[in-house]
Amino acid sequence: MTGSKDLEKLVEYYHNKKLAHAYLITTNNIPKCLEVLLKVIKNIFCVNNYEDNCNKCSLCHLIDLKNLPSLKIIEPDGEFIKKEQILDLKNTFAKSNQFTNESIYIIKNAEKLNSPSANTMLKFLEEPEGNVIGFFITTEKDNVLPTIQSRCELISANFLEDESTDITNVEYQELSQKVIEYLKDIEVEKKKSILCNNEYFIDLEKADVKNFLSMALSIYKSTLNNKINGTKENPTFLSNLSIKNIQRKMQLIIEILQEINYNVNIELLLDKFVLEMEGINNEVI
Ligand SMILES: [Zn+2]
Repeated sequence: MTGSKDLEKLVEYYHNKKLAHAYLITTNNIPKCLEVLLKVIKNIFCVNNYEDNCNKCSLCHLIDLKNLPSLKIIEPDGEFIKKEQILDLKNTFAKSNQFTNESIYIIKNAEKLNSPSANTMLKFLEEPEGNVIGFFITTEKDNVLPTIQSRCELISANFLEDESTDITNVEYQELSQKVIEYLKDIEVEKKKSILCNNEYFIDLEKADVKNFLSMALSIYKSTLNNKINGTKENPTFLSNLSIKNIQRKMQLIIEILQEINYNVNIELLLDKFVLEMEGINNEVI
């Protein structure tokens, strides 16, 4: 699974006593990131030799139930993460540390910390008393308050829609560049499908083609989310597309991804893909 490797390094850091007090994790998928992070935490705390789905020990069990007193997950209450939520976290940690050597908090959507809650948070970050470890997760690093950013170690954990293969963050970035070039060829250059596909897909394994299309899906998906939320950051060549246009293209990619599983001729399928993309662009939507 993409992104997992980047987070799994934390287990090693922990055992080598090199784990920092706070991490800012940038990701394209918060639920997935949280899921993997919880596995990492189980791996750290587990009293057995941790294996996936450890159900032998009470610690893993309590983490699964989101009921371990020394592990707190905070998410926005309405529009922001509120000061009271951070105060509550501090109180909880002051009382409960008997289960584990460290207390861990996870802040989902760290960009939603506003000034009051971030100020309350800073004390944790500046004077880490006891063994407290914090993970701030965000999809919008640039919107996380600088006071928080500057006190955290940065890591990235990005995930593909289709999780059939495990690639590192560097590979993810490279793939993402390549897919953006490909989409530019389709969206802007309007290259003929055969020419376009030959350039990109020659000698690619089926799994690579799936990764490629999953990445394309991720790019359209985040463009769509940014459009809906009014955030900037869209690749400029996609910014003029309508919401409906993007939704149609996402649907098409999902269909193509399903068809690949049925072992059809990949070349024909990719040509069909580019032709249909063109068809969507020719409709007025
Ligand atoms: Zn366990």
